[in-house]
Amino acid sequence: MSEIQRSAGGPPAAKVFVEGRYRKLTRDLPQTVFFCPDCKGHPRRRRGCARCEGFGKLTRDSVQELIGWVLGALFKTRKHKFHGAGREDVNVRMLGEGRPFVVELLGPKVLDVDLAAAEAEINRRNEGRLEVLGLHWTEKTRVAVLKEEKHAKEYGARVRVGAPPDPQKAAQLVGRRIALTQQTPERVAHRRAQLDRERWIEIVKFAPLEGAENEWELVLRAQHGTYVKEAISGEGGATRPSLTELLGAPCECVELDVLAILGEEGETVAEAPRVRPERAPDFGAFLD
Ligand SMILES: [Zn+2]
Repeated sequence: MSEIQRSAGGPPAAKVFVEGRYRKLTRDLPQTVFFCPDCKGHPRRRRGCARCEGFGKLTRDSVQELIGWVLGALFKTRKHKFHGAGREDVNVRMLGEGRPFVVELLGPKVLDVDLAAAEAEINRRNEGRLEVLGLHWTEKTRVAVLKEEKHAKEYGARVRVGAPPDPQKAAQLVGRRIALTQQTPERVAHRRAQLDRERWIEIVKFAPLEGAENEWELVLRAQHGTYVKEAISGEGGATRPSLTELLGAPCECVELDVLAILGEEGETVAEAPRVRPERAPDFGAFLD
């Protein structure tokens, strides 16, 4: 039920939800604001902070900010929350049809925003770094759906091999679903519970990269929650089997891209709806 809470004489306390998909074209952009771990970006504490030199953040910007700054200016609010359907590492590009997200704008003073123009402005300002597709009005219920849905993903990786793999062994890996057991990787051990996870990967393509010595192009599909870099390297046996183990040659992921967000079982899913009304919804229609 839509509800507008009016404080006496003040503006309505409202929220607006805007959904779209983002494509991240660089390897230097976190999905959300990357606050400094030492001072947490606190306005006073960050002043003397050696780690971020008073900036409060460890990167200049993020997907959240590049989208939120444009939408915030149009809706005339500084407050927003960013909800992504999962996330990729800072140095991983998000290509293909992009990753779904919802931006929640809090206390907007303007509601009649042209989302097509907003999308064009985000894309104009961030050419070569970030692209937004299919920006449209949505509702609060979509946030939980984005957070709960499980998606397999298709990845493209540049893999450095320590020794030339046996071409026959490499060819035999393609097209098979391979079950893995993964321990929590070292790089995320501080924020994830230590446990063994059963996951699957499916190798779609594995072929020498032209013009690069000892580098192979890998396309693979991986179950929701697979640690892909570790599925390639094996991280010293923490993932078994790994590409390293299967080929009998040390493999390392040099670059990684997400190519597609798939259904839970790895099926291709229909694109998210791109409904975009000609005009803004009636006041209140999309409020929380
Ligand atoms: Zn700091």
